[in-house]
Amino acid sequence: MTGPAGAPTGPRPAVFLDRDGTLVEERHYPVREQDLVPVPGAAGALRRLHQAGYLVLLLTNQSAVARGMLDEERLGALHADLLGRLASDGGVIDDVFYCPHHPEGTALAYAFPCDCRKPAPGLLHRAMARHDIDLSRSAFIGDSPRDLFPGVEGAGARILVRSGHPLEDVSAADQVAPDFPAAVDWLLAQSRTPPDTPATSAQGT
Ligand SMILES: [Mg+2]
Ligand SMILES: [Zn+2]
Repeated sequence: MTGPAGAPTGPRPAVFLDRDGTLVEERHYPVREQDLVPVPGAAGALRRLHQAGYLVLLLTNQSAVARGMLDEERLGALHADLLGRLASDGGVIDDVFYCPHHPEGTALAYAFPCDCRKPAPGLLHRAMARHDIDLSRSAFIGDSPRDLFPGVEGAGARILVRSGHPLEDVSAADQVAPDFPAAVDWLLAQSRTPPDTPATSAQGT
């Protein structure tokens, strides 16, 4: 998955990707497979990221668990179905991390303030513990400023998309794109050289 034999190994750039309103259309607490609808062009955008050497990690707040609307087993099944559909269209998501908590939840096992509900950095830390990631070459893509982990320093591009919640404050973003595929186009245009090679300016045109 890291390229042809002999390709450089070591820390890889990652895209930390939001789910609702970014990868899939915004719905009110989706709990059924058919409620998770990838935005147009999502699979192709995932494929371009993978081909460019990025790990793609889905990081998502799922307070529906704390609200008693679905359990973690059901959430896992939803994600397996979604990833399967994307993969059949050539789109790779390397891993999924979710926060099931909410302080005002009704499922008591999940109803507390946690360190992993975005913008808290718990999911990011978990992802970086499991994967060998070069944060400085990584990017955040989401439809809310909290998806950009504004408190985390040393990261690469932060991109907001307009396909989800109405954007009011875009000050945390390096770029605002119409949707996830456009965000990927912008990101890849910033680094025409493959992420695995030393960065030199490839912008000559
Ligand atoms: Mg979202
Ligand atoms: Zn949490």
